[in-house]
Amino acid sequence: MRWQQQLHTALDHFPLPLGEGRERVLSSAKTLPFIPSQREGKIRRRRFALLAHSKTIMDKFITQLPFLTPELLTLAGDMETFVRLEIEPTAIEERDVDARLREYISTLAEAGVLRYAVADPGANLGVRALCLIREALAYSSPLADLAFVMQGLGTYAISQAAPDHVRDFWLSRAAEGKAIAAFALTEPDAGSDVASIKTTAQRDGDSYVINGSKRFISNAGVADFYTVFARTGTDANGRAALSAFVVGAKLTGFNVSERTSMLSAHPIGEIELKNCRVPAENLVGAEGDGFLLAMRTMDTFRASVGAAACGMAHRALDEAVRYAGSRKQFGRLLAEHQLIQEKLADMVTELDAARLLVYRAAHLKDTGVARVTREASEAKLFATEAASRIIDQAVQIHGGTGLVRGSVVERLYRDIRALRIYEGTSEIQKLIIASQLLKE
Ligand SMILES: Cc1cc2nc3c(=O)[nH]c(=O)nc-3n(C[C@H](O)[C@H](O)[C@H](O)COP(=O)(O)OP(=O)(O)OC[C@H]3O[C@@H](n4cnc5c(N)ncnc54)[C@H](O)[C@@H]3O)c2cc1C
Repeated sequence: MRWQQQLHTALDHFPLPLGEGRERVLSSAKTLPFIPSQREGKIRRRRFALLAHSKTIMDKFITQLPFLTPELLTLAGDMETFVRLEIEPTAIEERDVDARLREYISTLAEAGVLRYAVADPGANLGVRALCLIREALAYSSPLADLAFVMQGLGTYAISQAAPDHVRDFWLSRAAEGKAIAAFALTEPDAGSDVASIKTTAQRDGDSYVINGSKRFISNAGVADFYTVFARTGTDANGRAALSAFVVGAKLTGFNVSERTSMLSAHPIGEIELKNCRVPAENLVGAEGDGFLLAMRTMDTFRASVGAAACGMAHRALDEAVRYAGSRKQFGRLLAEHQLIQEKLADMVTELDAARLLVYRAAHLKDTGVARVTREASEAKLFATEAASRIIDQAVQIHGGTGLVRGSVVERLYRDIRALRIYEGTSEIQKLIIASQLLKE
């Protein structure tokens, strides 16, 4: 029986100690009958629903956090189970990244997880839930984490300010995994310096005509729609007035001009808009609201980049602990050598500190603090930098084995790098933190 074998394999390869939890997961799974594959969609949901209540393997750190409600703790437990069963068995595969992303989208949609990335119309997104889910997914598959979060990044501005019918159309499709979203801000000459965007949108009757190009756009070529930021004029201070538009991938004049090959598995590329005519109703908010909408999106999602980094770092730490406890050199386990113990101590301490910053920022946002700019930047900066150090040390503990293509720590070493760059580089986070501090 395929899924039962998959379940055993998943549990065998999952590094966290399951203890009694393993038996409970397996016995609840055993109660399910064999299900023909054509009905797998429905069954997966049922199987997940059953297993979700097994409440087995709770991460101790999460239970100690003062920032989480009982509902969020349940979500964290459910996500661990879900990831173990649905994501982990195929997580290391790096074949056909577009197909894998689509598979993850449908798996996440089926289990109802995508709903946590897509905000309800006009409502705030639960940032703690976002962080818990990203941490759990990134622990196993950074690509699954990307599939999840892009549905949110690509729709957040829409959820806040698009006209009702445009908003409802795209939000429901994104949450159900029926349409894939993307967020298109960066340009060849406008990376950190968002205000220097050159893409223009000019009103022409019932439409806007958009011209320009965007690069490093995650999901380019896979996405069904893009939230595109363009200049619509100049503001009172002579600065570019940016506006946001929903652009369907099938519109005439819209083109994915290049797919970019990255260090890690990540669908990404450049898009070109040549006289791309977009209905005026696809303007998100008012003309000139684009910068604010982009910054609100960042304010909501930035701490969650830190959460994804923590998920990856946590996995690297678990792999390192396991390896150090099994490999012998000089007649003793690596874990018995004090220099290795020092590394492990630094790794776990940095991880704990990173998670505290992440959940503090998420908690503040969820409890209605209007701006969490400094806290979210601190979380993103510290967690992504710390995760890079932790993963580097995990590779070091593995010696040559850590560099073998296809090993978990080797993949994490490549996966983590982008997180110090996207959604604002570490340097930009430092500038934000200092400027907020000096204003306070
Ligand atoms: C994997 C990946 C996915 C991405 N996905 C998306 C996406 O979906 N949508 C999107 O719009 N963008 C996306 N990006 C783009 C990303 O947001 C930009 O790469 C990032 O903002 C940096 O811009 P840049 O690459 O042009 O670097 P630059 O802005 O040119 O910066 C180059 C270097 O200079 C430093 N620097 C810049 N300004 C200053 C300053 N004032 N002081 C000190 N140092 C400075 C930077 O920190 C960096 O180290 C993605 C990028 C990557 C790598």
